[in-house]
Amino acid sequence: MSSFPYGEAVALSSRVRRVTAPNSGPMTGPGTNSYLIGKERIALVDPGPAIDSHIAALIAIVGDRLKWIFVTHTHRDHSPAAKAVAAATGAELVGNIIENDGFQDPSFTEARSLANDECLKTDEFTLRAVLTPGHVSNHVCYLVEEDRMLITGDHIMGGSTVVIIPPAGDMADYIHSLERMLDYDLSHLAPGHGDLIDAPHAEVKHLIAHRLKRERKVSDALAKLGPCPLSALLPVVYDDVAESLHQMAAKSLLAHLLKLDTDGRAKLVGDNWTLVD
Ligand SMILES: [Zn+2]
Repeated sequence: MSSFPYGEAVALSSRVRRVTAPNSGPMTGPGTNSYLIGKERIALVDPGPAIDSHIAALIAIVGDRLKWIFVTHTHRDHSPAAKAVAAATGAELVGNIIENDGFQDPSFTEARSLANDECLKTDEFTLRAVLTPGHVSNHVCYLVEEDRMLITGDHIMGGSTVVIIPPAGDMADYIHSLERMLDYDLSHLAPGHGDLIDAPHAEVKHLIAHRLKRERKVSDALAKLGPCPLSALLPVVYDDVAESLHQMAAKSLLAHLLKLDTDGRAKLVGDNWTLVD
């Protein structure tokens, strides 16, 4: 049996359960993970896509004990089920909202917003909001303090590289938000897609190194090709990534170029990116 059975609660600790939505795909892995914290007064993190069977499963599992629905961000595979689950349970919606850049869930329009390190405490758990802009500017991770388990949404995914889509996504912010993870004492990462990740700090350091290595590939390609458009850089910088993913990779490439611009190392002149001496 798959470790991601759709519609079933998989226990990850005495207080955290995972229910995976049936929206598997190249960008979503086995599907979006919804996390349930607590048994008496339950918090749900990331209700997921508005798929009827997933919404019905969540409602059946929580019964009348769901009190809060948190979202890590408002991409369409993470928050659209919130409205229906809130309507059925009376749970409060919590999460930060940004202007719709064409990638946000238009149904998630009203929620209590969160500040960094804001905590929800119940008799069973403490859930700490860790603001992590980068993948998208309104991204929040949630730390289940008793388990030292960090629910990472799309800040860190199991087994694949997170896409950064400017302008709501920002590579410099993303790397900074990864570095901030190292300030927290963690035992596991619980990603929005894929399985629990052990050795969180090693994983975070690996991800930072991976991004900086890609950034070096971008500056090396600019040095080699001279002033050129993003489309000419794409196959050189992502020669290790399947061509079917290049459309998405182009967004992360733009994010890298914008970071180099912010760092004063590259600039856009007309349609051509060029290194700054
Ligand atoms: Zn996302």
